[in-house]
Amino acid sequence: MLLDVEELHVRYGRTHAVRGVSLSLNEGEVVTVLGANGAGKSSLLRALAGVVRPAAGRIRFGKEEVTHAAAPDRVRRGLVLVPEGRQILVSLTVHENLQMGAYCRTDADVGRDFAAIYDRFPNLAGRRDMPASVLSGGEQQMLAISRALLARPRLMMLDEPSLGLSPLLVARLFDLIGALNRDGLAILLVEQNTGMALRAASRGYVMELGRVVLDGPADALADNDALAAAYLGAH
Ligand code: ATP
Repeated sequence: MLLDVEELHVRYGRTHAVRGVSLSLNEGEVVTVLGANGAGKSSLLRALAGVVRPAAGRIRFGKEEVTHAAAPDRVRRGLVLVPEGRQILVSLTVHENLQMGAYCRTDADVGRDFAAIYDRFPNLAGRRDMPASVLSGGEQQMLAISRALLARPRLMMLDEPSLGLSPLLVARLFDLIGALNRDGLAILLVEQNTGMALRAASRGYVMELGRVVLDGPADALADNDALAAAYLGAH
C-alpha cells in the first residue's frame, strides 16, 4: 500500500472540516474523492500534503508515517499536491514556475526531466521564457501538473484539476491523467466532474460533511443510483 490514512480529522477553529476519514491507495492506482462543495475534500488533500496540520489521525506514505512531517519533506518523499486553482505564479516565467517544482531535487536527472516536460508539452516549451500569465487556463493546468512532475512524485494529488476548463480541455486533461498513470504514477484525484473521475479511477470515495459516506470500485459507484441522483446529473 502506498498511502494509508486512518481516522484523519482537520479543524479550522470551530469548523470540523474532516471528521475521521480513512482511505487507502495502492502503488500505481488512480483513486478519486468525490463530494459537493464544502464536503472537506480540499482539506483532506491539504492535510495529506502537510499544508494544514491534522487535529487527529494518522497518515502513512510508503513505509513511513508522515502525519507530522513538514510539507517540503513530504514533497521530497514523493507526495505532491497540485492545488485547487493551480497556484501558478503568473509574474514568473513558465520556466521559473517549473523550477519551483524541482527545488527540492539535487540529483543529476533534473535537466533530462525538464527536457521530457518540454517534449510532452510543446505549448510550454514555446513560451518557456514568457510570463505564465500568457498561458490559457488549460495550459496553466498543464504547467501546474508539470511543476508537480518535476518533483518526481510517487503519488500526485490533484485538487479539482478540471475546474474552469472547456469540455475539450477537460478531455485532454483526463487523457494526460491516464497517460501518467500508465507510466506508473499513482494519482489521488479530487473532482466535481464525477463522471470523468469515475472513468479515470479504479476506486472512489464519496465525502459528505467531512465524512466518507460511500466508497468502492469506480464502476460500482458509477452505477450507484443515490450517487447518480446526487452528483452525476451535475455535469
Ligand atoms: P470545495 O470544492 O469548495 O473546495 P471541499 O470539499 O474541498 O469544497 P473544503 O474546502 O475542504 O471542502 O472545506 C470544508 C469546510 O471547511 C467548509 O465548511 C469550509 O468552509 C471550511 N474551510 C476550508 N478552509 C478553511 C479555512 N482555511 N479556514 C476556515 N474554514 C475553512
